[in-house]
Amino acid sequence: MNYAENILETIGNTPLVKLNKLTEELPCLVLSKYETFNPGNSVKDRMALQMIEDAEADGRLKPGGTIIEGTSGNTGMGLALAAIIKGYKCIFVMADKQSKEKVDILKAVGAEVVVCPTAVEPEDPRSYYSVSKRLGEEIPNSWYVNQYDNPSNAKAHFLSTGPEIWEQTEGKITHFVVGVGTGGTISGVGKYLKSKNPNVKVWGVDTYGSVFKKYHETGEFDENEIYPYITEGIGEDILPKNVDFSIIDGFTKVTDKDAAVYTQRLAKEEGMFLGNSAGAAIKGVLQLKEHFTKDDVVVVLFHDHGSRYVGKMFNDDWMREQNFIE
Ligand code: PMP
Repeated sequence: MNYAENILETIGNTPLVKLNKLTEELPCLVLSKYETFNPGNSVKDRMALQMIEDAEADGRLKPGGTIIEGTSGNTGMGLALAAIIKGYKCIFVMADKQSKEKVDILKAVGAEVVVCPTAVEPEDPRSYYSVSKRLGEEIPNSWYVNQYDNPSNAKAHFLSTGPEIWEQTEGKITHFVVGVGTGGTISGVGKYLKSKNPNVKVWGVDTYGSVFKKYHETGEFDENEIYPYITEGIGEDILPKNVDFSIIDGFTKVTDKDAAVYTQRLAKEEGMFLGNSAGAAIKGVLQLKEHFTKDDVVVVLFHDHGSRYVGKMFNDDWMREQNFIE
């Protein structure tokens, strides 16, 4: 018989799937690392398990403990699945701009969810950064994960996602394109790919309203770059320790409208029912067109599943309210 001992053993080894219609205008092969095949439907299962196992190993997380994290949903799902198998409690702190589906999904896997306002400074005591930190200090036998600065996040991608992409492309990958939030995915995968071939180019996809692109180009943390935006999962108003700017060759910024429209197009034209950051990522690939030649092999990573966005990017009334469609 061939079976996994538990759901955690099914994390990783996701397929690489060719893009066909949306990339017709590009000269090269474009492949997607299709992370929704993970049991929690996102790439975040990988780093959630790694963060828990590293915290168990050095005693930060003890038996019966409570896992606390500020999460927009996908990291929470990964942590919750691992917590169920390993016997921990979970409390997640989310910003109120996240979709209701994301909150409901986390509750469905046994987590407690605390919702905080989006439109406050990170230092504000009501922000989700501050609230998660405070709960971590107040609740006994708890562990505050902090995916932004936790090195196990990028490590997971250096140990699993990166090697999988290298092997699946038989070392032929020339460009890696991915949305950047905590930076764990781009830094871990990028570092691994460059360790195998320093000529591989690593491109980050950023949002308007986020600091990454400007910081990468000028070294300046420009507060004027920070304003509210709609795209979910990518962009930040802080510089997480997990973003290793030294391995990133460049950033491209995608508008909220383009990210939403391309999320719909992936579903309708490629049969790829994916999250909002996948729309941003594929539009980012198209924006980087001038960097690609016919022999290139471009891999774009798609982080999560469309089911989490049915009330938003897959709802035409919502799309019209945002003026994203006529
Ligand atoms: N897309 C989605 C849907 C996400 O949840 C995340 C994580 N915030 C990202 C992209 C960005 O990934 P990373 O945090 O590894 O940079």
